[in-house]
Amino acid sequence: RAKADGRGTWRFFEAEMDIRLQARRALELDLREAVTQGAFELFYQPIYDFQGHRVGGFEALMRWRHPERGLVPPGEFITVAEEIGLIVDLGAWALRTACTEAMRWPDGIRVAVNVSVAQFRDGTIIQSVKEALSLSRLPAARLELEITETVLLKDNAATLATLHALRRLGVRIAMDDFGTGYSSLSYLRSFPFDKIKIDQSFVRDLTDADESAFIVRAVIGLGLSLRMRTTGEGIETATQFERLRKEGCDEGQGYFIGRPQPADSIPAVLERLSVPRALVKQAVA
Ligand code: C2E
Ligand code: MG
Ligand code: MG
Ligand code: MG
Repeated sequence: RAKADGRGTWRFFEAEMDIRLQARRALELDLREAVTQGAFELFYQPIYDFQGHRVGGFEALMRWRHPERGLVPPGEFITVAEEIGLIVDLGAWALRTACTEAMRWPDGIRVAVNVSVAQFRDGTIIQSVKEALSLSRLPAARLELEITETVLLKDNAATLATLHALRRLGVRIAMDDFGTGYSSLSYLRSFPFDKIKIDQSFVRDLTDADESAFIVRAVIGLGLSLRMRTTGEGIETATQFERLRKEGCDEGQGYFIGRPQPADSIPAVLERLSVPRALVKQAVA
């Protein structure tokens, strides 16, 4: 009897594996087709400059416009795109599109683009950035690349050389999701980032004098000492906004300030956030 049950369970497992494999293959096929059809879009989320009381730039966030599933967020396809080698083309497309789009924005407004580890591994990132800049004619200083720890995990000479080469082009490098990885701190020693983005998990609990508040304060201090700007991610409430501003964080990003939106709504976002101190008043009120 136990044996029969065991076999039954096994069969159930197999069936489930089959379904997962099929789903995965379907996703891969879908993704490949989407790349050839250009079914991707960039949404832009404002990054608020606390001292200047204005928008300093926008982060480009990829979306997949799926015929049945609607707008698919990157969490559901970036990893697969990396695994099957699609991210290199997709990443190059994102760079070209973001730079071209940013040329339409008021002078000085920067654009941040997320870069995947695969673009580093095969060394195409430098060429992609060069192409995007020359095609769009965007000044390099207005482009920022956001990298996560996975890029730095192989903390080898090649990665560092690539980062330095990118920096020599004049683009800025930000460390994304700071504090979530194994050795975030040691990376700050090996490379002079322009910016540290404090992960939203620390900003989320930023309501009282709890551990997160101490950590956020420490990271802001770290940024000051190392001459790296700091950005608080995932600001959803007026309290979090006000906290980060008071602690001396340079920039803030999150739903409280503005959600990621299509390129054509950027003028409206800039208009809304151009009223001096509007958000501060809202946060204090
Ligand atoms: P990320 O670079 O850390 O981007 C911030 C994520 O937090 C975005 O999710 C954004 O929509 C979300 N977010 C912003 N403000 C808030 C808030 O107040 N509350 C909450 N709960 N979330 C907020 P999204 O767009 O789903 O992107 C997820 C991740 O996918 C990004 O994290 C980034 O690592 C990756 N990604 C996005 N676009 C690209 C891309 O073009 N290339 C690559 N390689 N990765 C990308
Ligand atoms: Mg990012
Ligand atoms: Mg982040
Ligand atoms: Mg993230």
